[in-house]
Amino acid sequence: MSSYDSIVIGGGLVGSSVAYGLARRGLKVALLDEGDVAFRASRGNFGLVWVQSKGLGVPEYQNWSRQSSMLWDDFAQELRQETGVDTQHEHKGGIHVCITEKDFAERKKYMEQMHLEAGETRFEYEMLDQKALKSAVPEIGPEVAGASFTPYDGAANPLYLLRSLHAAFLKRGGKYFPQSKVAAIKAAPHDFTVTAGGATFNAPKLVIAAGLGNKALGPLVGLNVPVDPVRGQIFVTERVKPVLSMLTIWVRQMAEGSIMIGESREDAGYNDVTTPEVQQEVAARAVTMFPFLKDVRIVRHWAALRVMSPDGLPIYEQSATCPGAFVATCHSGVTLAAAHALRYAGFVADGALPAEVARFTNKRFDVQNAA
Ligand SMILES: Cc1cc2nc3c(=O)[nH]c(=O)nc-3n(C[C@H](O)[C@H](O)[C@H](O)COP(=O)(O)OP(=O)(O)OC[C@H]3O[C@@H](n4cnc5c(N)ncnc54)[C@H](O)[C@@H]3O)c2cc1C
Repeated sequence: MSSYDSIVIGGGLVGSSVAYGLARRGLKVALLDEGDVAFRASRGNFGLVWVQSKGLGVPEYQNWSRQSSMLWDDFAQELRQETGVDTQHEHKGGIHVCITEKDFAERKKYMEQMHLEAGETRFEYEMLDQKALKSAVPEIGPEVAGASFTPYDGAANPLYLLRSLHAAFLKRGGKYFPQSKVAAIKAAPHDFTVTAGGATFNAPKLVIAAGLGNKALGPLVGLNVPVDPVRGQIFVTERVKPVLSMLTIWVRQMAEGSIMIGESREDAGYNDVTTPEVQQEVAARAVTMFPFLKDVRIVRHWAALRVMSPDGLPIYEQSATCPGAFVATCHSGVTLAAAHALRYAGFVADGALPAEVARFTNKRFDVQNAA
């Protein structure tokens, strides 16, 4: 049996961010991952570091997302220095496009409410009517009613992010075990023995960060983690000359020139195949936003499963029955990567979750269930 300071289960964006953060603090960490057969949102997402739609009615989530977006600037630089991998992080603000006048009116109310709820932490935004939007994004289509803008939003290349997290983790002495689906966990307070990939690992700390796998793994250490899949479909086009200078939700141009077009939200269970009806819907919306896209060729198309809690918020908790065991899961693993590496890992290392993330306890589901 090999001994570690901490075991992290799940080598996607959440597990890798936390594992890197722990190794960065000098802990001896084993990162266990099931492998290519698993569902992996981290390899199929849109790559936004998105803040402006996060946390209506839950200012703690707005704060946490915004904090991560702020941390991202130094985080991207740190990853590049550690590994030589450029995550292509950009932080120039972003635009939420409203296709119809009704969308625009609803969005205006939404942003006003976010501003009110932010209180003294403030929430800076601008509503761009059709004319203002056209001047900010000249390629926008004539049918689009307007948009909201905040300076907090950004994006990264999610595949380079995952690669750099793994490389940085290894560089800091972390041990990565692929093809290691967890078969059993023997849990006692501050004493966890995990069997995976034919080997046995022991540590006083355990972090469950296995995406959709959290639902089955959590109860093994006394944690209820009610996450379910929500499917999303994405297109990537051929490379074209730089044309979209501004980051917009649903359509963005990557550093190498290809345009990423997203994305649907579907309740399809664990079915991660693409469907022509949704492809048409996503493509039609993108062409309405940017008419030049009708002449650009699609080169790839895929579906992936989001990891979604019932209220869409992250779940952060330490087990009451097996202290030392933590869970980290969310549906914005790119946005929150910096917070997970630079803040959440610190909470785990210190052995307690602070009030700042108390709103994300899994106990909120017990209250809902009782009600
Ligand atoms: C279409 C789409 C678009 C998205 N767009 C964005 C976006 O723009 N911005 C953003 O911030 N987020 C976005 N997301 C969400 C983001 O991708 C996820 O929040 C993030 O990838 C979740 O990472 P994860 O590590 O929790 O899960 P995953 O990536 O699913 O990784 C889980 C890992 O756990 C491992 N695992 C599972 N079970 C076990 C087990 N029993 N033993 C060992 N290992 C196990 C698997 O092998 C897997 O590698 C999007 C997601 C989708 C699907």
